[in-house]
Amino acid sequence: MEEFIYLDNAATTKTSPTVVEAMLPYFSEYYGNASGIYGIGVKSREAVNLSRERIASTIGARPEEIYFTAGGTESDNWALKAAAEMFCSFHVGNTVTETHKNHLITTRIEHHAIINTCEYLEKAGIEVTYLDVDESGIVRLEELERAIRPETFLISVMFANNEIGSIQPIREIGAIAKKYGILFHTDAVQAYGQLPINVEELQIDLMSASAHKLNGPKGVGFLYIRRNLRIRSFLHGGAQERHRRAGTENVPGIVGFGQAAKEAAETMETRTVYEIRLRDYLIDRVLKEIPYTRLNGHRTRRLPNNANFSFQFVEGETLLIMLDMEGICGSSGSACTSGSLDPSHVLLALGLPEDIAHGSLRLTLSAETTKEEIDFTVEKIKQIVERLRNMSPQYEDFVSTIHGEPDTCCQAAPEPVS
Ligand code: PLP
Repeated sequence: MEEFIYLDNAATTKTSPTVVEAMLPYFSEYYGNASGIYGIGVKSREAVNLSRERIASTIGARPEEIYFTAGGTESDNWALKAAAEMFCSFHVGNTVTETHKNHLITTRIEHHAIINTCEYLEKAGIEVTYLDVDESGIVRLEELERAIRPETFLISVMFANNEIGSIQPIREIGAIAKKYGILFHTDAVQAYGQLPINVEELQIDLMSASAHKLNGPKGVGFLYIRRNLRIRSFLHGGAQERHRRAGTENVPGIVGFGQAAKEAAETMETRTVYEIRLRDYLIDRVLKEIPYTRLNGHRTRRLPNNANFSFQFVEGETLLIMLDMEGICGSSGSACTSGSLDPSHVLLALGLPEDIAHGSLRLTLSAETTKEEIDFTVEKIKQIVERLRNMSPQYEDFVSTIHGEPDTCCQAAPEPVS
C-alpha cells in the first residue's frame, strides 16, 4: 500500500503523469505567448486550439463554444453574473433599474461558487428561488416547474453534487428550460469526466467544468457557452478567447486540461465500472458492519466514486482527524468557517438533523483505489467510530434508554449487493 490512502478525489485529484508530460514542453520549450505571430507563439496557439477541439468533442460541442477560465469557480461566476446582466441592468447596492427579467432558479445544494454568487446577485436586486431537494438529494421537477415565473431568465442546477454525489435529472431540466424559453446553466465540475455529457442532447446553454477534478492541473477550467448566446466578457482586457475572457492564456494548464479530458473520455467506461463496484462494496460493508449509520444521497443515482455516510453519535471532524492519523485522507460535509463548525448546507437540505449532519464522512475513490485500501479504511472507521461512541455521553444515554433501537433517521444496513 501507498504511504497514505487518498479518498478525497471529489476535492481534487492527482495530476496524471501523462498530463504532466504533455504540459512540460509548454513551460520550457514552447513558452511563447499564444497571441504572438512568431514560431513558438504559433506552437502555443496550436496547442490551445487542439485542447479546445478535444474538450469540445467530449461534450458534443463546437470548439468555438469552449472558453477557457481559471477553474470552476470562475466559470460559475461568469455564467450567473453575465446571464443576469443580459436580462437586467443592475448595480450592487442600488435597486434594480430597467428590469426586464430578474428571477433565477437554483437549488439549496449547489456548491458555494453558485450559492455565494446568487447571494451577491440578490444584493443587486435579482430574485433567487432555491429549490429544495428530496431526501436523496434530487430536485423535484414539479417544484422546478412551479417556481418558473414570466421573469425567470435562468435555471442553474448542478449536474452532480460534490458532497453526496447525487445526479440530477439534467435531461428533464433541459427540456423544461427549453419549453419556457429560459437559459439553462449546469455546474458540471463534479460530473465532467465521470459521466457522459452531450450539451445538444441535454439542451444545456452554459456549462462549467474544472481540470483538477479529472486528473488535470489546478487553476484551469472552461465555460461552455452555446453559440449565438450574447453573453458578456467576464474579464476585461486583451482580446484573448475571442474577446470574451481577457488575460494571457495559461497554455500549459490548457494543454494539461485537453490531455486530461481526452484520457478521461477514453477510460470513462472501464474506470467507472471499476469505481462503482468498489464504491458499492465500501457502502455495503460500512452499512452492514457499523450500526446507526446512514448513507447520504441516492443509493444508485450517485457519482461512480462517491460515498457519504453519517455516523450517529460521532463528530465528523474528529473522525477525520483520527483517520488522518491512520494515513487515510477523507473529508467531512462540514465547512470550518471563522472558528465555528457549521454542518453542511447540503446535508441539512436533505432534512438531516444538525447532530447527524455533523457526523458525516465523504470518501471519494479513484481508478487507483484498491480493494485492500477500502478494507483497511473500513476496519479503521469501525474502530474509530466505536472508540468515539464509547466516549459519547449521548451514546451512553441512548444505549441505556432505547435498548439499542436504531434512530429512525439512520437506515438499517441493507443486504450487500453481489
Ligand atoms: N462546483 C463544484 C460542484 C465543485 O465541486 C467545485 C470544487 O470543489 C467548484 C464548483 C469549484 O471549482 P474550482 O475548484 O475549479 O474553482
